[in-house]
Amino acid sequence: MAPSRRADAPVRRLFHRAEPDAHQGRPERPLGAGRGSEAPAGPGVARDPRHRGCRSRPSAKVVSVRVTFLGGLGEIGRNCAAVEIDGQIALVDCGLMFPEEDMRGVDLVLPDWRWLVERREDVRCVVLTHGHEDHMGGLGYFLSEVPVPVFGTELSLAIAAGRVDEMGVEKDFRPTPDGQWVTDGPFRFQLIPVSHSVPQGSGVVFDTPEGLVLHTGDFKLDPTPIDGRRSDLPSFGRFGNQGVRLLLSDSTNAERAGFVPSEKSLESPILSIVRQAPGRVISTCFSSHLHRVQQLSDAGLGAGRYLSFIGRSMERNVAIGRDLGVLHIPEDRVIRISEAMDLPADEVMIITTGSQGEPFAALSLMAVGRHRFVTLNETDTVLISATPVPGNETAVSKVISDMIRRGATVFHGGNANVHVSGHASSEELKTFINLIRPDAFVPIHGEYRHLRAHADLAIDMGVPDVLVLEDGDAVVLDGESTRVERDVVEAGYVYVDGSGVGDIQQGLLRERARLSDDGVLVVVLLLDGEGEELVRAPQVMSYGLMTEPLRLMDDVAEAVMAAAERDPARFFRDVDTAVRHAARRVIRNEIRRKPVVVPVITYVD
Ligand SMILES: [Zn+2]
Ligand SMILES: [Zn+2]
Repeated sequence: MAPSRRADAPVRRLFHRAEPDAHQGRPERPLGAGRGSEAPAGPGVARDPRHRGCRSRPSAKVVSVRVTFLGGLGEIGRNCAAVEIDGQIALVDCGLMFPEEDMRGVDLVLPDWRWLVERREDVRCVVLTHGHEDHMGGLGYFLSEVPVPVFGTELSLAIAAGRVDEMGVEKDFRPTPDGQWVTDGPFRFQLIPVSHSVPQGSGVVFDTPEGLVLHTGDFKLDPTPIDGRRSDLPSFGRFGNQGVRLLLSDSTNAERAGFVPSEKSLESPILSIVRQAPGRVISTCFSSHLHRVQQLSDAGLGAGRYLSFIGRSMERNVAIGRDLGVLHIPEDRVIRISEAMDLPADEVMIITTGSQGEPFAALSLMAVGRHRFVTLNETDTVLISATPVPGNETAVSKVISDMIRRGATVFHGGNANVHVSGHASSEELKTFINLIRPDAFVPIHGEYRHLRAHADLAIDMGVPDVLVLEDGDAVVLDGESTRVERDVVEAGYVYVDGSGVGDIQQGLLRERARLSDDGVLVVVLLLDGEGEELVRAPQVMSYGLMTEPLRLMDDVAEAVMAAAERDPARFFRDVDTAVRHAARRVIRNEIRRKPVVVPVITYVD
């Protein structure tokens, strides 16, 4: 592929100026003032020297554009990027990440946006690419600190609104039609339709003083999506022809060969499973995947069944989808689950939450026989139209086993053709890069391995600047140069636990890990007023240490007393440490464990 610009490409708008209202009431600040340091391209920066000489860019007035990544580059989740022009910031997405297994007690994980809170006067808006949690799940938390308008498609905003409203946070949501320029301060952007695993997904292109910056959102090139709203390749192609300075593209499936099959390809396999089912069909998928909900519904209706939707998020998203005309289901074919129980089994199709093995979702409750209405039996057919996202494999597998044990026949992504991914595979990604032919490319949305794989595709295709960045890094477009700045902002995980946001640090998680791995030993000591003598034998209690701890507790009490008798001066000088040492030694010798030892010391007067 020839990497140079096509001869007919128009000259980039190098002198685009901000709108007249750009700085009203907002203090001007140099880009990234006081933050980080500029570094030359680091080891993750791949520059292909073959192409350096091919491009010519007229010298121009320098107006820097910076894109800083707060999340999503190094993990699947908490996608969030800050596009900065003239010191003003537009955020693309504001997602959350679900906690990993070792994050005990953590409900969810957010990007670290403290620097944006400090600069809240500079933040203009948020642009949502689509209605998935990893792109909009942090929005309520962000808006509570930085109240700015949010742009996105009607459905993306409607899905996001549920969460924001739940938190009681004010919102200024501005539904944005595809393909129309929106101007907000120095920003001029438009949404471009993409197909994905939630309807009305978008890419977003920013027309900046340094050229076009194109963010794909999550996408695939499905030519026959259920709603006919395809990834808008003609528009992408036009921007490609115009000259895209920087492309940011979804890397989730960069390691996967080939193309992702179309959503349409699931139609007949799903229908044949539903048709052949002897009794009830209980199906599940992500509740925001309204096209899949439509396909499941169509199969149920096609087989002459009534539909019953259960699970809070499923009911909510189905209502939103029907409201916005995204989901088409005749009213008279939808029944309540209580009514469904009175119908012949082969007239019922249940569509429920629980595709990820979530412990309290309806499907998981059915699997363990604890659902209020549905008790699984050997005539039931279960259809899991999803694959577990990383981290949920074990939970999903257990749900499948439990349902099979109850006699149900279970179809899932692993044994039937009932699921396709929402993210482009490598051939699609290459096709897309070929369409855009950007000057510079940053793979986004993936663990490091996915980013690297995507970067390799771009290098193979001759993209001049291929930059592998991680959370906290920024890419700066500055006249002639495109450069990487490493670690310009803090980008660690911000944990949400109950009502606490950001008050959990790594140390606390390590402590929780120790508590849950090894248990706790509490040693209660009663000392005289001088603190020089034990008034009575220590009381010892343990939690989560062993099943029959009584004898061991006696041994610990004796060891503590022995230590006090052996060297009273030393023991009473630092009772805490002495008790810990004595107790740990006994436990280590007898059962080879290392519980957290908590001495509780009381003095009598
Ligand atoms: Zn995503
Ligand atoms: Zn997504």
